[in-house]
Amino acid sequence: MITDERLTHIIKVARTAQRLAERLRPNDKEFHEDMFLLGFVHDVGYEFSDGGKFHSKISGEIVENVKMFQRSSFLPKCWDCPLGGYCGGGCSVSCYTNQDRFCHEEFENFEYLIQNIILPIIRIKLHEVS
Ligand code: SF4
Repeated sequence: MITDERLTHIIKVARTAQRLAERLRPNDKEFHEDMFLLGFVHDVGYEFSDGGKFHSKISGEIVENVKMFQRSSFLPKCWDCPLGGYCGGGCSVSCYTNQDRFCHEEFENFEYLIQNIILPIIRIKLHEVS
């Protein structure tokens, strides 16, 4: 089980990994986030081990087998989706959790963007030229 003390250690490791990544590659935000994530999950094996035994082996196996890390969120159906160029398949975690809900929300967000942001701007521009 992950104790509160372990959780404190985990967040320290994650932030340290992020800071080291920032020094190594200052302009690579994705690398900084990846290293934070790696630090954040490095001790997950404690949650599933017997008193911490083999926790590093268990952590490695869990992280290696996380299915949502192994697939692209851009699915074959995205090629035919009218939002493909806007959404791009979206967040892999959201898609993996509930693809239908994610697509539905993406369409709602796009509709909101059109109605409340893009159309008002177009109306203002049209008013300026007329
Ligand atoms: S809304 Fe759904 S189907 Fe369309 S691009 Fe995004 S993830 Fe793919």
